[in-house]
Amino acid sequence: MTSNPGAHLTAIDIAASVRSGERTAGDVLEEHLERIASSDAEIHAFNHVMVDEARHCAQAVDTAVKAGEDPGPLAGVPVALKDNMCTRAVPTTCSSRILQGWKPPYDATVVQRLGMAGAVVIGKTNMDEFAMGSSTENSAFGPTRNPWDTSCVPGGSSGGSAAAVAAGFVPISLGSDTGGSIRQPAALCGVVGVKPTYGAVSRFGLIAFASSLDQIGPFANTVADAALVLEAIAGHDPADSTSIREPFAELFPHLDDGVSGTRIGLITEMMGEGIDADVAARTREAADALEAAGATVQEVSIPAVNYGLSAYYLVAPAEASSNLARYDGVRYGNRVEGNTTDEMMFATRTEGFGDEVKRRIMLGAYALSAGYYDAFYGKALKVRTLIRADFQVAYEKFDVLLSPTSPSTAFPLGDKTADPMAMYLNDVCTIPTNLAGHPAISVPFGTGDDGLSIGVQVLAPPQGEQQMFTAAAVLESAAPGGAR
Ligand code: GLN
Repeated sequence: MTSNPGAHLTAIDIAASVRSGERTAGDVLEEHLERIASSDAEIHAFNHVMVDEARHCAQAVDTAVKAGEDPGPLAGVPVALKDNMCTRAVPTTCSSRILQGWKPPYDATVVQRLGMAGAVVIGKTNMDEFAMGSSTENSAFGPTRNPWDTSCVPGGSSGGSAAAVAAGFVPISLGSDTGGSIRQPAALCGVVGVKPTYGAVSRFGLIAFASSLDQIGPFANTVADAALVLEAIAGHDPADSTSIREPFAELFPHLDDGVSGTRIGLITEMMGEGIDADVAARTREAADALEAAGATVQEVSIPAVNYGLSAYYLVAPAEASSNLARYDGVRYGNRVEGNTTDEMMFATRTEGFGDEVKRRIMLGAYALSAGYYDAFYGKALKVRTLIRADFQVAYEKFDVLLSPTSPSTAFPLGDKTADPMAMYLNDVCTIPTNLAGHPAISVPFGTGDDGLSIGVQVLAPPQGEQQMFTAAAVLESAAPGGAR
C-alpha cells in the first residue's frame, strides 16, 4: 500500500470546512467509506463499519450547519473506535469469540462526547483479544496489517485504530492503553498516539482489561489533531469513580509555546540493552532537536523502571483474571451448552477465549492465590510504588522525559507469536507510565534502517499534558522529513 497519510486532510481542516459549510459531513464520510471499501480487505483495520449509523450521524451534522448551528469542534470528522468501547446497538466484540455478536445497550462516555463534539463514528477497529498483545495477531478475527508494509504487524493491542489512521481511513481514532497499546502501535504505524493521565478520560463503557491501568486516548496524524480530540473526550465523568475532578488542561493555546528553557530528561534505562541501535539513534536525534529548540537535555536514571515489565505482568493479569470472570455464559455474550452449570461455564470459556487470554487468566489467578499473593501480587504493588517514587524524583528536576516508544520498528507477522516473552518486551518503554498513572505521547520521528517508522515518547508528570503536548509539537516540526 502506498497511501501517504500526509496527503489526507487533518481533522482540524475537515471540521473547519464542515463548520463553515464549505463541505458537507456527508461528502467527507463517503470519501472515507470509499477508501475503506477499496483498501481495508488488505489491512483489516475494521471489525465492523457502521455505514448506516455514520450516514445518519453525518446527515444530522449537515442539518445543524444548514440551520446555522455549530455542531462542535469535531464537526463531520470521521472517527474509528477500538472494538472494546461500548456502542449502543452496534457489535462490540473485543475481538473475542466470547463477545461476538454482542450489542451493548449503551454508549461509552467517550462515544457520547465525540457525538456532542460533532464527530461521526464510522466503525469499530480490530485489536488483540481483550487488549492483550502487542501485534493485533491475538484477534479472534485475524490480524491487522501495517499499512506501510503489509507483511508487518501494526503493533497492538490497538493495531486496528493505528492502522486506520495510517491508511487514511479516518483522520482520528481512539484506542486504549493499559501497558502501551496506544503508543506502541502509533510508533509502528507512523502516527501520533496519546495515553492521558489515569482518570483524565472516562473509562465508563470501556470493557475492562486491568482497571487500575486502562486509559482511553487518541490516534491522529498530527499532534494538533490529537490535542483537538483529547480536549473533546477528557474531563470529569461522575460515571467513572476514578475520573479526575479538576478541569482538563488546555492544550491548544499552548501548542506553539516552544521548549525554550524546558528541562528534558532522557531516560538512561530506556536507551541501552534491548533497544535497537536505529531506534536509540533517532531518540538521540530527537533530544538534539529539542536542545536546538532551546530546551536543556540531560540523561536521567529512573532505576525502578527496570522492574516495570515484571510488575506489570503480575498486576495486569491479576486484574484481568478478576475482570474476565464475568464472561460466564450467563450474563454476557456467547454460551456453549453443558449438562451442568459448571460444564456450561467451562465449555463457554474454553471455546470463547483465545490462548493469550487464557494464559493471562491463569497467571493472574495464580498471582492472587492464597500463599502466593504476597510473593507475587503484593510485591508487584511495591514495585509500582517504587516506580512512582522514582518518577517523582526525576520530575523535581525535569519538566518532561524522553525515551523511545518501542524497542524496534514494525516486525513481520508471525515473528513473535511463538514466544510470549519476546512479545511482552515490546512494551518495556511504555509500561512504567501506566504503572505510575502518568501521561505519555508517541510522536513519529524518522525511520529505522528498514525504512519503517520510529516513534519517540514524551512522558510527563500526572496532569502534565500541557507541557507534554508543547514538547511533542516541537518534536513533530523537527522530525526528519516533517511529520509523517
Ligand atoms: N501489550 C501489553 C499487553 O499485552 C499492553 C496491552 C495494552 O496496553 N492493552 O498487556
